[in-house]
Amino acid sequence: MPVPLFDTRTPLEPLRAALHAKLAETLDGGRYILGPEVAAFEAELAAYLGARHTIGVANGTDALVLALRALGAGPGVDVVLPSLTFYASAEAVALTGARPVFCDVDPATFCVTPDSVQAALTPATRIVMAVHLFGNVAPVQELEALGVAVLEDAAQAAGSRAADGRHAGTLGVASTFSFFPSKNLGAFGDAGAVATRDDALAETVRMLRFHGSRDKETFELIGHNSRLDELQAALLRLLLPHLDGWNDGRRAAARAYADAGLGEHVTLPEPAGDPAWHLYVIRHPRADALAVALKGQGIGTKAYYRVPLHRQPAMAPYADGRDLPGTEEAARTHLAIPMSPVLGPEQAAEVVAAVRDADLG
Ligand SMILES: *Cc1c(COP(=O)(O)O)cnc(C)c1O
Repeated sequence: MPVPLFDTRTPLEPLRAALHAKLAETLDGGRYILGPEVAAFEAELAAYLGARHTIGVANGTDALVLALRALGAGPGVDVVLPSLTFYASAEAVALTGARPVFCDVDPATFCVTPDSVQAALTPATRIVMAVHLFGNVAPVQELEALGVAVLEDAAQAAGSRAADGRHAGTLGVASTFSFFPSKNLGAFGDAGAVATRDDALAETVRMLRFHGSRDKETFELIGHNSRLDELQAALLRLLLPHLDGWNDGRRAAARAYADAGLGEHVTLPEPAGDPAWHLYVIRHPRADALAVALKGQGIGTKAYYRVPLHRQPAMAPYADGRDLPGTEEAARTHLAIPMSPVLGPEQAAEVVAAVRDADLG
């Protein structure tokens, strides 16, 4: 039996009737922009996370741009962030006029470390963007001890928790989420949110998402048009109560891989905190050959970040020539293998058998 890289459909099947009813209700309600569903989703997401404020925006990239601007990112400001992440993390920094400064990651966790961030700090560094990559939780508390504001890119970490139990996305001064359909909490199109413990920051992000205005009459800032759609919010409200259950399914799948002996053939991902396993990413010296062998057995895999950001063409102006050995190691050897809330022990055993049969040493 083939095993897909992810399965976003099966977990939604039991909710199909409720989603359709909610869609019809929202269409008939006639409020499509910043109505009651957005307000309710913001309150429910804040309660779920344990966040003081959440602000719904159009997507996870805009969430980063708005949060960065509210934190003061702009010309003359350096923002330290990992090179091993989705392009949007660095793109958002450059869009504000600030300079992305790339730091290394620990290839075992795929996340930044206090040492790797410290090595990249410049006199102009005001913000560190901690990316919770693949669902692992970056060490935000230790980064704050370096005396910089920490913005969490929690796009891949909805439902992940730090070792002390706090949710990813409530650890730094502000955080961002993406509800792109394949994320752990996925909408039916683009959607995102900013969370923050800071009242003034929340107010600025609220203004920035609506053209820099509080009252829609006076325009105080050059802002954006970046609202979370009422339709997406209405549907996300139905999904949110299921997020923890889905993530428990992901955690069980991760345990099933380990129990089936996957670690005898590849390097398993090292959990940082209590990850919600957005992706399950192993390392192997011959990752591309492994991908080809698994594809032959009908097993989906993907190398997400073979070319890290400091070597992407658009980031050439920001590549400062420093070596990022942990990044290069992770970029060369990582491979995402199937992960979803409904990946059971039989499928995990099938994947492990195929990895063993690939016999790449
Ligand atoms: C998905 C993602 C984003 C961007 O989110 P969009 O909703 O697609 O704009 C940003 N950062 C990371 C790490 C992501 O995985």
